[in-house]
Amino acid sequence: MAAIFRSIPRAFRGYLCTPVPLSARRFSKRADENRTLAGKVAVITGSTRGIGFAIARRLAQDGAHVVISSRKQENVDKAVAMLKEEGLSVTGTVCHVGKAEDRQHLVTTALKHSRGIDFLVCVAGVNPLVGSTLGASEQIWDKILDVNVKSPALLLSKLLPHMENRGGGCVVLVSSVSAYVPVPKLGVYNTSKTALLGLGKSLAVELAPKGIRVNCLVPGIIKTDFSLREKTLLNILPDMNKIFGLQRLGEPEECAGLVSFLCSSDASYITGENITVAGFSPKL
Ligand code: NAP
Repeated sequence: MAAIFRSIPRAFRGYLCTPVPLSARRFSKRADENRTLAGKVAVITGSTRGIGFAIARRLAQDGAHVVISSRKQENVDKAVAMLKEEGLSVTGTVCHVGKAEDRQHLVTTALKHSRGIDFLVCVAGVNPLVGSTLGASEQIWDKILDVNVKSPALLLSKLLPHMENRGGGCVVLVSSVSAYVPVPKLGVYNTSKTALLGLGKSLAVELAPKGIRVNCLVPGIIKTDFSLREKTLLNILPDMNKIFGLQRLGEPEECAGLVSFLCSSDASYITGENITVAGFSPKL
């Protein structure tokens, strides 16, 4: 992390370190006192670090049992141990969302805890290409679309009967502001994130009769390993944030706060929405 930080242009470093205002910190702490999701079960992909980990911690603080997952066993073990040490109810398993057998295993792991599942949060996303959209190989297209777009739908199809068991549920997909403001050289990734907005809208319509709500979290630049790696993101979006927005980058906990709200009964009449957490509105 320190090496990545040093490789970022000096001008942006101070910007990365801008402290989170008190109001944002207070918002993420409130969960400790308010266990609004007690008795619920949440499955979260890509949740061993970054935005996914913050969501896992927040939903568990809110009282849910959380099933953590990502590709690497050591990351799963570390994340589970960390949250258990905080007294939270979590289990974990390896799940590369692009692999059918891993998706099935994730469902099986969640069902060991309870006969039903209430929430699915699809955070896992990849960007293996910085370069021309038309120069992207078929393999790159397949990888990005498999992981970012197809896997949430395929995983949800496996979980659906168990959400129906509960008489309803809540799904949150994780898109990106690059769906609205295409970042140069990330064309395939931008396309996948725009497709997710469409997937969310379609699933919201399809699943509404079953009482299952589907919404999309649309993050701007959030301080994680992913955003520090993707310098193209850092070179474009901070300028928009500087001109139109709160003039700082986001914290993973600020995304987690929105997901907590969307899963709660306070959001019981909200579905089919794409909600930006970016410090500015990309839909100016
Ligand atoms: P991150 O810090 O790099 O964390 C990614 C997480 O996903 C890790 O737990 C990683 O663990 C897991 N993962 C990666 N590929 C996976 C796969 N194929 N299957 C299952 N798990 C996988 O990333 P992040 O910044 O939190 O980003 C999370 C999501 O937010 C992504 O969908 C990204 O596109 C979106 N987003 C991020 C930003 C931002 O500024 N950070 C902005 C807009 C959108 P393993 O290595 O163990 O698999």
